[in-house]
Amino acid sequence: MRFDTKLVHSGQETVGPYGDLVPPIHVAATYDRFAQDPPRYFYARGENPTVEALETCLADLEDAGHCAVFSSGQAAATTVLSLLSPGQRLLCCDDVYGGTHALITGLRRYGIQVDQVDLSTPDRIRAALAQDTALVWLETPTNPLLKVIDIAEVARCAHERGAVVVVDNTFASPALQRPLRWGADVTLYSTTKFVAGHSDVLGGALVCDDPALHRAFTAHRTVAGTIPSGLDCFLVHRGVKTLSVRVERQVRTAGRLVDLLSHTPGVTSVLYPGLADHPGHEVAARQLSSFGAIIGFRYAGDVEKLLASTSLFACAVSLGGVRSLIESPALMTHRPVPAAVRAAAGITDDLVRLSVGIEDPDDLTEDLSTALANGL
Ligand code: PLP
Repeated sequence: MRFDTKLVHSGQETVGPYGDLVPPIHVAATYDRFAQDPPRYFYARGENPTVEALETCLADLEDAGHCAVFSSGQAAATTVLSLLSPGQRLLCCDDVYGGTHALITGLRRYGIQVDQVDLSTPDRIRAALAQDTALVWLETPTNPLLKVIDIAEVARCAHERGAVVVVDNTFASPALQRPLRWGADVTLYSTTKFVAGHSDVLGGALVCDDPALHRAFTAHRTVAGTIPSGLDCFLVHRGVKTLSVRVERQVRTAGRLVDLLSHTPGVTSVLYPGLADHPGHEVAARQLSSFGAIIGFRYAGDVEKLLASTSLFACAVSLGGVRSLIESPALMTHRPVPAAVRAAAGITDDLVRLSVGIEDPDDLTEDLSTALANGL
């Protein structure tokens, strides 16, 4: 099966006496051991058939051996970080989602060395991996600056040190980028975003090939209680069926909005890996099948007025859904990052992030251009 067919068919095999084309949603918290032959399900904090159906699909999408799903992207992140022990080093790219920043810097309390470094060039990658490292954490494209990191180069250098490489692939989604193919060990998703796609459910996933890593993830999930409910997995699985068609439309409209922004007075720069002058453009062209539906730009006008002036773009955190969103990383998603760290990274007050939805591209273009003029 090819990718778009897997989206619709994987984990959706017809089961049970009724021939349901959509598998039933399992909500039981516990299972009768003697009613099962052989006994397989024990307690829903550990296992649930609706959870497993989604895992089958998400693993298939990356041709991976395993997937474990979680109650949120951050629950998945917490699980990966549980691999670390005091004295070990975590290397992380310098630009990550604000919640991830808070989570990883909090590890210093447990005696873990946490270094955040710009990994957007090969020499920086090599220098950053010149010392022993247990885990390397990447986002690419990064949130919110849309830097691009060469996954294959990181994996090559990291594996020489025996480090595990985790790529948060939330911005690209499996429709545009498959990190395991480039040598990563684990792909992390906030399935809340493009994968589920409708801003109506939280979820996370860890996709990997190594059975020992997968066992560690599911064992942690069972004791930490971070498994999602059957109802939530049903929603994510329903959403993923339209991932390719949604993303294709979102990327096409993003191209039009990038064009608009590039020619609008008051927009001082546009951050989008599809632009030929983006520093990561060449790597992005190789690593991604297209350049995504998240756009950053710097605005010389009044950002708060701009955010209040759109009518179709909702001013809201999150991304990747069918509805277009606009936000200020400094005021919203990256507020947990200390101001000095934000300033050093370039997450300045003039930065605006768009998540492009599936509305009519003409309506979105008109809405944004009116709001941009209003904020000046
Ligand atoms: N990773 C990225 C890149 C994100 O943008 C977010 C949330 O915005 C997360 C992870 C966390 O996901 P969740 O909100 O599902 O916990």
